[in-house]
Amino acid sequence: MIPLFRVAMSPEAPAMAAQVIGSGMIGQGAKVQEFERAIAGRIGRDEVVTVNSATAGLHLALHMVAREDADDGGEVLSTPLTMEATNWAIMANRLRVKWVDVDPATLNVDLDDLARKISPKTRAIMIVHFGGYPLDLDRLREILDQAEARFGVRPPVIEDCAHAWGATYRGAPIGSHGNLCVFSFQAIKHLTCGDGGALVLPSEELRRRAERLRWFGIDRTADRLRNPPDVTEWGFKFHMNDINASIGLANLAWAEEVVARHRANAAFYDRELAGVPGVELTERAADRQSSFWIYPMKVEDREGFMKRMDEAGIMVSNVHERNDLHTVMRPYASLLPGLDHVAPRVVCVPVGWWVTEEQRAHIADTVRRGW
Ligand SMILES: *Cc1c(COP(=O)(O)O)cnc(C)c1O
Repeated sequence: MIPLFRVAMSPEAPAMAAQVIGSGMIGQGAKVQEFERAIAGRIGRDEVVTVNSATAGLHLALHMVAREDADDGGEVLSTPLTMEATNWAIMANRLRVKWVDVDPATLNVDLDDLARKISPKTRAIMIVHFGGYPLDLDRLREILDQAEARFGVRPPVIEDCAHAWGATYRGAPIGSHGNLCVFSFQAIKHLTCGDGGALVLPSEELRRRAERLRWFGIDRTADRLRNPPDVTEWGFKFHMNDINASIGLANLAWAEEVVARHRANAAFYDRELAGVPGVELTERAADRQSSFWIYPMKVEDREGFMKRMDEAGIMVSNVHERNDLHTVMRPYASLLPGLDHVAPRVVCVPVGWWVTEEQRAHIADTVRRGW
């Protein structure tokens, strides 16, 4: 079987992790700081705070910008087509979900629908760069400008960048466009720490607050002897440790090549699968570059397609189920015609760094022959 996911572990990682494990210092220390600086360098922003997962990062990001208003019917606009972690952050913060429809062309949120649904009750907006394909962030900013002019408040945006390490929008890395951005370094993401995540904050003040709140609200930089730190705001235990950071540092060196190989395989499919009957590819705009964590496409008779791929030794999947149909999300059910139209047709074929030229040719060939 050609797998849909594989762990991209550098051969250097075991030795680098072993060094930390044997050092007697395995908590949050120098390696976390070094990894954080390295991430900041790649994204081009200083305000980076690592955490132990993107799930924790999303929870913390929303807690920081929206929690205080939680009891007044405040709601968070979000996409139903994502890993559940995006939306469970809303539940964890006891806020209400308001679904935004999905654009069948990109599988990101439909920005027209988002513009219609912003209201004075909107406490925050969660967006996902699905599969690593960037949302139109300039258009989103215009929508927020208009909302601010109308309602006098500007809802904060949280970008779930879990799929989008290495993606760019208008020439700048995803994560650098001024919102609260959350990356995942979970096992099968482009860059892995085993488990881990990072927040990019829009200001130095928020960065310092996030740094405290990831560790009980305690300022670890304080001089404990001369000036024992007071806690002015309680926080979580969401910090990264040096073992995970050392694995991340080992993998960071070749993460760019990992992304480049995902992209090269995607470009091959773009050429080979264009115009194939029963297949519709997703949008490719000239002003952005996907990181192609996955290669989603839309197919007729998905069940038949999946059966044919399985027979040919190719693992395929829709990867994420729509979240709005889960029983726990029933209170937020709404009409989502774009998602209804596209969700039954979405399927992803293997695109990652492990897919060889022969394998990708076999995959394209199998699709072209029909099902
Ligand atoms: C993987 C993923 C997450 C969760 O990341 P963790 O680091 O495992 O918590 C969140 N959102 C999306 C879109 C993901 O793919």
